[in-house]
Amino acid sequence: MRAATLAMRERADSLERELGRRDAELAALRVDLAKAEEAMSSDPLTGIGNRRLFDRALKKLAREAVEQGAPLALLMVDIDHFKRFNDTYGHPVGDLVLKLVAAKLAERAQPPRIAARYGGEEFALLLPSTDLAAASALAERIRTEVADRELVLKSDGRRLGTVTLSIGVARFRPREPLDAFLARADEALYLAKAAGRNRVVCEVG
Ligand code: GH3
Ligand code: MG
Ligand code: MG
Repeated sequence: MRAATLAMRERADSLERELGRRDAELAALRVDLAKAEEAMSSDPLTGIGNRRLFDRALKKLAREAVEQGAPLALLMVDIDHFKRFNDTYGHPVGDLVLKLVAAKLAERAQPPRIAARYGGEEFALLLPSTDLAAASALAERIRTEVADRELVLKSDGRRLGTVTLSIGVARFRPREPLDAFLARADEALYLAKAAGRNRVVCEVG
């Protein structure tokens, strides 16, 4: 009888140790998964969100906007004449400019806002609970903050002049296809370019 009880206790102890090991393994896997998720969602050059993150956030925030009856705005941001920067100063300096613009957007996109590199030298900002007027005001602030700063290369003191941005602003219309929302922001951005760049244009209608 005593021997049987002892054996049971030993078995229980061993099971407990095994469970503890499994818990630790599971926790380590969760950390790995979170790291992988983060790596898959961020742009390696600038460190801000990438297109994958943007697409996922857009779906989620549009659904929440409908559920909550709250506005959702989008800024499409494109660096003006960026190719000239690359051509004049070289690709590595162009990369620095991309990092700088991304950092400025990240600074203005604290959660629940989402900033992402949409592609090349184009960025997107998703602004939950933000109407068109507030979104335009934010776009204008970002535009001026970037345009007012003269860029000087830290490494050799070379002056690079200023970077300007064109920004298109759109407001989500509940239940519209997300493509239509994006297209309106793109159209506004196109109009900003056509009107001479370094400006913010709001969607029409
Ligand atoms: P616009 O004012 O009409 O937007 O002119 P733009 O020169 O900015 O636009 P265009 O589309 O002609 O050129 C974009 C350039 O961005 C071309 C491409 O080489 C550069 N680019 C895209 N991705 C990167 C990158 O990761 N690093 C660097 N350095 N350049 C990039
Ligand atoms: Mg450009
Ligand atoms: Mg572009």
